[in-house]
Amino acid sequence: MNQQYDVIVIGAGIVGSMVARELSRYQLSVAVVEREADIGMGQSTSNSAIIHSGHDPHPGTLKAKLNVRGNELWYDLAQKLDIPIRKTGALVVAIGEEERGQLAALYERGRQNGVSGMQILNRDEALEKEPLLSGDTSGALFTSTAGVVDPFQGVLGVAENAATNGVTFLLNTEVRKMVVQDGAVRAMETSNGTFQAKWFINAAGVYSDEIMHMAGVGEAFQITARRGEYFVFDENALALNTVLFPMPGRKGKGILVTTTTHGNSMVGPNSDPIADKEDHAVTREGMNTILTGAKRLVPSVSPSGVIATFAGLRATGNHTPDGSTRDFLIEIAREVTGLINVAGIESPGYAAAPAIAEYVVELLRSQGVALAEKEQWEERRQGIPRFKTLSHKERKELISRSPAYGRIVCRCEEVTEGEILDAIHSPIPAHTYDAIKRRTWLGTGRCQGSFDYPRTLEILARELNVPMTEITKRGPGSVFLYRRTKEEVL
Ligand SMILES: Cc1cc2nc3c(=O)[nH]c(=O)nc-3n(C[C@H](O)[C@H](O)[C@H](O)COP(=O)(O)OP(=O)(O)OC[C@H]3O[C@@H](n4cnc5c(N)ncnc54)[C@H](O)[C@@H]3O)c2cc1C
Repeated sequence: MNQQYDVIVIGAGIVGSMVARELSRYQLSVAVVEREADIGMGQSTSNSAIIHSGHDPHPGTLKAKLNVRGNELWYDLAQKLDIPIRKTGALVVAIGEEERGQLAALYERGRQNGVSGMQILNRDEALEKEPLLSGDTSGALFTSTAGVVDPFQGVLGVAENAATNGVTFLLNTEVRKMVVQDGAVRAMETSNGTFQAKWFINAAGVYSDEIMHMAGVGEAFQITARRGEYFVFDENALALNTVLFPMPGRKGKGILVTTTTHGNSMVGPNSDPIADKEDHAVTREGMNTILTGAKRLVPSVSPSGVIATFAGLRATGNHTPDGSTRDFLIEIAREVTGLINVAGIESPGYAAAPAIAEYVVELLRSQGVALAEKEQWEERRQGIPRFKTLSHKERKELISRSPAYGRIVCRCEEVTEGEILDAIHSPIPAHTYDAIKRRTWLGTGRCQGSFDYPRTLEILARELNVPMTEITKRGPGSVFLYRRTKEEVL
């Protein structure tokens, strides 16, 4: 394995993957290191998945600038990378007279940030757009450029395209030490060996403060994880057309009611600072707070249609004042050379990610890094087919290409062996059960995997040429099978 690169990106969330893709345009050797067994296991896939318009961040902040630019870039990018996205528009809903009076200031903030397609609606216009809104609605700010994205497919599309363009992804590789010599970061020690690079990009999400401290940088900088919990509803539970926000408050954008690219509706998140950066618990108090907040916008929200719950952890930095002026921290480290920190990337970090990547590349250019474009750079990527959604004719064509598409492995979601093989042999190979599940939707239906998983394990073992006892659910420490039946236990 090559242990030396021009640039190493730490963290394969949406930010690290987007930076890697942007760098893959140039004649540079680039690697992304990720401690998990798959990409996109952090906050990039446990969030509201909204491509915000940019009306909310404080004017003049990096958040405002990069959100608006990111929004401009996302829709075209998603189309090129086969990423599910929907430009739904969003309503910031005023409840009661006092909030109605705040809409003009919100509009003005958006105008200063350069957001296009905004309109202040009166009560009737808002209810016409979204009939499920509360009868106490007094008006709304409509932002037409907002939308929703499939957050995992987003990271996957970007990362696979980067890999196709030559970026190396090193999974199960945790950075444990940054090696600094003569005032420069020269190498990093990981769970998978030592790697050298001329530049390191720290995009480690809630752990980006720890990476900084390993390099002796930003001693006072700290990330607090702020947990946001969600309810996901059955497809038929709420018929929504747009994303619904309350008026923003000191704690952020507030509890929203939104829709996913798959047609489910979703409510959340709350915002609770927590000490443990791995604590993804969903709590009764959190659920109550969310329901109360969501019902204020849409009174018909009811827990009866809930099919799933989850929580994500925001990476909130202490480098700028709390509240609406809190900003991203994206800068060349001052104390050492060879390190760029992309830290404190909380919302709207997903929406801003394509613009964050452009910004980071410009920081490298400002340091004299030679950015000669490659002669061949593939800007498009095609995801694996989804058998379930294909017409009869398309299914026949696929099966004639490979009979594996004719063998259904997951009955509920109609996932075929062909799709599983595509996932295993894709540019970012899926080597765990969960990695296949995230790419194909296998195991997400009514039986929750009880039918498909033995067969999927067999296919994984066969393709990876390892015994079934080595196949894991989500990486080291999560095997399904401990030993063969009747095997002697020593
Ligand atoms: C509840 C919630 C709601 C949100 N809603 C939205 C929204 O609607 N729209 C929006 O634009 N943004 C939203 N965000 C923000 C958005 O999700 C983040 O800004 C974005 O995902 C940040 O991406 P990232 O790549 O920096 O972080 P992550 O996705 O967390 O990626 C960091 C990666 O670094 C890896 N890593 C950490 N330490 C190490 C190490 N030592 N060695 C190797 N790898 C390491 C992690 O495993 C992880 O994969 C929300 C966030 C949350 C939590």
